Amino acid sequence: MRFTQEERTRRVGQMGYSLSFKSYRLPMRQPLRTAQGWWSEREGVIVRLEDKDGQMGWGEIAPISGWGGGDLSEAKAVLERLGASPTGAELSEIAAPGGCLGFALGAALGQLGGRLPSVHDYLPVAGLLPAGRDVLRAVEQKLEVGFRTFKWKVGVGDPRDEQVLLDDLLGNLPDGARVRLDANGGWDRRVAERWLEVCAERPMIEFVEQPTDPANKDLLLGLAGDFPTTLALDEAVIGKEDFEQWMELGWPGVFVLKPALWGDPGELVAAVNGSTADVVISSSLETGIGARQVLEIAFGLPKLDRALGTGVWPLFSNTELNGPSAVPFVRSTDIERLNPIVVWEAL
Ligand code: MG
Repeated sequence: MRFTQEERTRRVGQMGYSLSFKSYRLPMRQPLRTAQGWWSEREGVIVRLEDKDGQMGWGEIAPISGWGGGDLSEAKAVLERLGASPTGAELSEIAAPGGCLGFALGAALGQLGGRLPSVHDYLPVAGLLPAGRDVLRAVEQKLEVGFRTFKWKVGVGDPRDEQVLLDDLLGNLPDGARVRLDANGGWDRRVAERWLEVCAERPMIEFVEQPTDPANKDLLLGLAGDFPTTLALDEAVIGKEDFEQWMELGWPGVFVLKPALWGDPGELVAAVNGSTADVVISSSLETGIGARQVLEIAFGLPKLDRALGTGVWPLFSNTELNGPSAVPFVRSTDIERLNPIVVWEAL
């Protein structure tokens, strides 16, 4: 059973918790290349809450620098100030504004109040493909293990070279396969228009993610209206406020939501279930603790009908730290197998 913020505050407000946390800095198995450059290590904080009965709740603070949703050193300073035995009211107050700290504390408190209900037995996952020519080798491996939805990072090389590679990629795919292109906001209007002309003739493109600057709403809305390919917002929708603004603007495309940047998992589920939004739930490169929470959120959304954006693991060399690795489908039983204590002890 889930509680609203107010009910939960009343219920646990006076309750004392034992709070501990561990910082991590982990090299990635393979550096990730995006339109914003190379990314080779992940930093974050694991939060552990224990109640007086010895029950534990877990959270992960894993912001992405420059994305919004909060800053890691600020989040650590807040945890230091909270001390070793905060009350539920203190924790809820800090979680309320959302962002990465809201995600971690909201998740940990939420687990102590009961699991999010799961409404799916399994969900498909999009396989993440590397930028550039490596895409062709990577897609073969992913096809072999059963992936049928793929996400390819573009906006990294010359657009004409990438468009030639796109046709090589699409030529290698079986009927029914779908490809998401993610430009991470790296295209200007002219480049985006040329790409969307190319995509218009290629129905295997499921959507184009964050083609242009997330701050330029008019350009994104204009492109969405001028071209037939579905567009998705990612960097443009970090938290609830962004989500509500774009819903009000009548965004006709997809919302890629990263729960680890949004805030309280229960609020995300309520916001999406209470809307008509077409949503992809995405990892923001967490350890198994954040992964478990992100997947629980996805499994709590009955209308979710797009593959998960969680095909990022194995992200770390230590296998104990990863979410479900290289799987084209995640089952609800895979989520239960992610044991926070194993991650905590491996850090
Ligand atoms: Mg993206």
